Amino acid sequence: MRKMLCVLLVLALLCAFAGCEKEEDDRRDRRETEEEPVVTKAAEPNPWVVCLDPGHGGKWTGAVYFGRNEKDIVLQLSNEIRAYLNEHYPDIKVLLTREDDTVFSTDLGADLRSRVEFAKNNGASILISIHLNASNEHNMRGTMVCISKQPNINGTSIELANALLAKTESLGLRNRGYETRNSNDTFDDQGVPVDYYAICRHGASLDIPAVILESCFMDNEGDYAYVADSAALKKLAAAEAEGIAEFLMSHFPKDEAKETEED
Ligand SMILES: [Zn+2]
Repeated sequence: MRKMLCVLLVLALLCAFAGCEKEEDDRRDRRETEEEPVVTKAAEPNPWVVCLDPGHGGKWTGAVYFGRNEKDIVLQLSNEIRAYLNEHYPDIKVLLTREDDTVFSTDLGADLRSRVEFAKNNGASILISIHLNASNEHNMRGTMVCISKQPNINGTSIELANALLAKTESLGLRNRGYETRNSNDTFDDQGVPVDYYAICRHGASLDIPAVILESCFMDNEGDYAYVADSAALKKLAAAEAEGIAEFLMSHFPKDEAKETEED
């Protein structure tokens, strides 16, 4: 009987932590095996280089609804964002952490760390991890952005989040705002909890603003309509791309652009 109660208690705790996204565990990683991210190329960040990270991939499907995997939709969405930026903002260079289903590592912690290292090593000024959301009751809607609370990248991450949210909101998606989430079991040298999400946590370590863009909830028809086919995806991608371009142009002074209209 006592064993049964323990099992029920553990299940209840698991449900309580299931929070904003059902598949949140594969955005976190296992802290006990975590190694510090490393910069190998020491590339100077270029304001006009943006790294997009299509979430999940490989054995990690992400959320699965309407017969489709989150990992496939976000790869397509990331490709559309890049295509839009290439066409309308040729000065912005876009990198993707994965071009197909191949991920850096089959170890979750190593894989998430490698995605941030890839962005940093290639001189990106920002990293946006592209995801779709899902909720327990399948009734939540809108866009939200998870950001780091660490002071070195928090301010820039808020700016980036707001630029993205304004554009998706203008498309008709509810603006759920941005949020930070602390680890409940891991602390830095000063005893301050680190970021819960690996992308944000490693972004703070490597000093690159890294945010998780939960574009919409894919588990209800209302929001799924925004990713249901390639025409819808293109519209969502255009909105997110405009958010990225607006952020870059407002955040970095014009004279930092590598090329001007002069030449
Ligand atoms: Zn996801």
